[in-house]
Amino acid sequence: MATIFTKIINGEIPCYKVAEDEKNFAFLDINPLAKGHVLVVPKTEEDYIFNLSEEDYLSLQAFARKVAKALKAAVPCQRVGVAVLGMEVPHAHIHLVPLQSEADLDFRKTKLSLSPDEMQQIANSIAEKL
Ligand code: AMP
Repeated sequence: MATIFTKIINGEIPCYKVAEDEKNFAFLDINPLAKGHVLVVPKTEEDYIFNLSEEDYLSLQAFARKVAKALKAAVPCQRVGVAVLGMEVPHAHIHLVPLQSEADLDFRKTKLSLSPDEMQQIANSIAEKL
């Protein structure tokens, strides 16, 4: 059965899309730790990021770097933080989180609740910087 992220990539489930290339896809995390929290996902369905082929892993990292630069340009922050957890969704993904401080990368904290309009605006503003 397809993962929820494959369904997002295939357009079967809506998302706030940020970017896409041949091998990868980026969209906003629906429960953001901070404004502009992005997930970067390989189109290949693989649970554990370090089980991706070297080609797919390097492609994902290069794509994440491009998205992170656009994110930094679109959302005021000190740095873009990077995290890989995969405790919830069994489809490899990289979290990119705009940081003002270390605490912004604490996955135990209460997530933000942003309006659909605001989420769409954030996704668009990142996409414009790519
Ligand atoms: P983890 O697998 O532990 O890295 O966490 C999965 C992440 O995916 C969480 O931060 C969720 O908020 C996010 N997530 C789950 N479902 C969706 C969805 N349909 N759209 C956007 N983000 C999602």
